[in-house]
Amino acid sequence: MGSKRGADGKQSKSSIQYNTIKVPLYPTPEQEALFQKTFGCCRYIWNRMLADHEEFYYATDKHFIPTPAKYKKEVPFLREVDNQALIQEHNKLSQAFRNFFRNPAAFGYPRFKRKKDGRDRFTACNHVMGESATIYITQNAVRMTKAGLVRAKFPRRPRSGWRLTRITVERTKTGRYYGCLLFACPVHKPEPVEPTAERTIGLKYSVTHFYVTDGGAAADPPRWLKQSQEKLAAIQQKLSRLQPGSRNYQEQVQTYRLLHERIANQRRDFLHKESRRIANAWDAVCIRGDSLRAISGALGGGEVLHSGFGMFREMLRYKLERQGKQLLEVDRFVPTTKVCSACGAVTESIPPKAQRWICPVCGAEHRRGVNAAVNIKAKGLVQYQAGQVQEAVS
Ligand SMILES: [Zn+2]
Repeated sequence: MGSKRGADGKQSKSSIQYNTIKVPLYPTPEQEALFQKTFGCCRYIWNRMLADHEEFYYATDKHFIPTPAKYKKEVPFLREVDNQALIQEHNKLSQAFRNFFRNPAAFGYPRFKRKKDGRDRFTACNHVMGESATIYITQNAVRMTKAGLVRAKFPRRPRSGWRLTRITVERTKTGRYYGCLLFACPVHKPEPVEPTAERTIGLKYSVTHFYVTDGGAAADPPRWLKQSQEKLAAIQQKLSRLQPGSRNYQEQVQTYRLLHERIANQRRDFLHKESRRIANAWDAVCIRGDSLRAISGALGGGEVLHSGFGMFREMLRYKLERQGKQLLEVDRFVPTTKVCSACGAVTESIPPKAQRWICPVCGAEHRRGVNAAVNIKAKGLVQYQAGQVQEAVS
C-alpha cells in the first residue's frame, strides 16, 4: 500500500526529485528595468484577477479567475513583459484559492498585493521544444525570454540529466538580484530503511540550544550567528536615535538590511549542515509535530520562527527521504515533557523553567530537554510500529 507501482506490477525504482540552485544575477540597467516592470505587472495582474474573481462571485455565486490574456487588449503594457510570468501569477492565485478552500484556517483568503509589503519576484516556466528552450544556462549567464542573457555566478553546476523547469527572479530589499533555478532530476528510489531503536534519534526543540537529543547532545547555533545578531540589535538601537530620513539614517538602514540578509544566509547554511549531518548519521529521526506558530505565540512571538526550526524540520524530512529513511512525527498533543522516561509517571507540577527535575515516583533525575527527547523517540517508534501493523492488516 502507498507505494507506486509501474505498469508491469513491479515496484518502480526511479522517480523525479527537485533541486534548486540559487544564483546571484547581475542584470544590465536595461534588464533591471525590465525586471522591475515584470514585478509591477505581476502585482497588477494578481490584483486585477483577484478583484474580478470577487465581482464574478458576487454576481453569479461561482468561482472563476480570468486568464491574463483577457487583460492584454485593455492594458498594453502587459505585453512588454514575459507572458510566462503572468501565467504563473494565474497559477499561483488558483493555487491560493484551492489552499484556502481546503484549509481556510491555515491559508487565509488570498490578499491584494501592495508594492511596499510585497516581495519583488516573478516566476517563469521553461518551455522546451526539441532542441530549443525558452530558459537555459550558459557558463556565466541565464538566458530568459525578453531579458536575453543575464549575467550570473554559479555556486555549483547542475549534474548531467537535470532538466531546468523554471526560474524565480527576485530582488532583495538591498537591491540585489537572485535567480532560483529549479531542476527536475531523475533519481533511483532508495531502498526503504527500517528504523530500529539503536539507529534512531529523538530530537526536542529547545529555545536555548536549538535542539537536544535523547543522548544528551545539543546543537548550539555557531557563535558568529549570535555575534551578527548582536550587531543587528546594536544597529537597531542606533537607528532609534537617528532622525528618520537623514543621510546617516539611510546609511544605517542599508547596513541593517545587508546584515539581515547575511544572517539569513548564515542561518540557512547552519540548518543545511545540521540536517545533513543528522540525516546521514541516523536511520530515522523522531521529532514532535509541534505547531511552531503555537510555540512562537506562547513565547511572545518571533523567537521560534526566527531560529528556523520549521525550516530545519522540512530539510530533515527530505534529506532523510532521499535515503529511504523516515522522519517520525509524534502527535503534538502527546505529553513528552511531563512524562518520566524511566517509569512513565506523569508529573504535572514541574515548574515551566526548571532545567532539571526528579521524578517523585521512581526518583530518577532528569534533564528537561533530554528526558523529553527520550520520550519523543520512544513514542515515534511505537507510532511507527503501530502504523506497520495497520498496513499489514488492511
Ligand atoms: Zn519516574
